[in-house]
Amino acid sequence: AAKNAGGGRWTWFDPIMDARADTDARLGADLRQAIARDELFLLYQPIVELPTGRLAGLEALIRWRHPEHGLVSPADFIPLAERNGQIIEVGRWVLTQAMRQIAEWQREHGAAAPAKVSVNVSARQLNEPGFPEEVAALLAATGLDPARLVIEVTETAVLGTGAALEAVRRLDELGLRIALDDFGTGQSSLSLLVDTPVSWLKVDKSFVDGVTSASPHAVIVDGLIGITRGLRIQAVAEGVETAEQAERLHQAGYRFAQGYHFARPLSESDVLLLLARPSSRETRQSQLI
Ligand code: C2E
Ligand code: MG
Ligand code: MG
Ligand code: MG
Repeated sequence: AAKNAGGGRWTWFDPIMDARADTDARLGADLRQAIARDELFLLYQPIVELPTGRLAGLEALIRWRHPEHGLVSPADFIPLAERNGQIIEVGRWVLTQAMRQIAEWQREHGAAAPAKVSVNVSARQLNEPGFPEEVAALLAATGLDPARLVIEVTETAVLGTGAALEAVRRLDELGLRIALDDFGTGQSSLSLLVDTPVSWLKVDKSFVDGVTSASPHAVIVDGLIGITRGLRIQAVAEGVETAEQAERLHQAGYRFAQGYHFARPLSESDVLLLLARPSSRETRQSQLI
């Protein structure tokens, strides 16, 4: 809904579009200062081993405590940061923070520390020239064993460009692990499972939601187990919310799962509480926050 306003200039008269552009611009300006003002922080959601209930790893999830708007969800500012390029700086901060944190937990808690940390990386980061080298430098600086780092990428991000695919291969050569996130919701291509060095396949919540009913989703959840087994990929069920789903996934052959049924994303201090427990490696639901 554009209208030629007098002086030959096109003006937008869509108030919703206008408000969105305005919010984007303001939020973007605020985000530019968020790192310096220490407003960003990470939560860590446990990934558990289904048969034993043990902690298999943690996924780092970003949060922004905005001085006026309060807690802003990544669903609201990560897409914006991807559009305006700020994801490069934000992503660098996330990687550094998560790698330092897991290295610290390992120094202080040894065998009780989480074995792995997963970090979400966006398409724009993957396509940034020199990204794998940057990860290599961070590994060297933090002294973190590369095998303890998992980079989560989406199918769409990897399929986007040859550069992204090349970056994923270089990351694999560094010795870290690649997870395909939200599997089944992007431009799913089974050839991706053959052409890329994927170690983990994270089956999206939208499929897990249907697992306890006679649904096409349940058929896909079951079918993926055969595929991942044959390809030596570990399947992780995302967004598990009920005991019934957890049981059903276990029966279907899933070894790993993540979701509110086990634990919400936890603060650094809640992770410490978890590690400090005598049965720190047992993370059955009753023991989690
Ligand atoms: P994701 O990587 O698929 O992360 C899983 C999301 O599902 C998280 O949302 C998590 O809190 C939520 N979740 C986990 N278990 C359950 C459950 O049982 N039920 C429900 N309803 N939700 C569950 P969150 O933290 O809001 O993050 C949303 C998305 O934002 C992430 O999806 C990821 O794509 C992106 N994101 C988060 N942190 C980062 C980051 O540091 N960098 C980048 N590039 N993206 C990030
Ligand atoms: Mg993820
Ligand atoms: Mg996911
Ligand atoms: Mg998801």
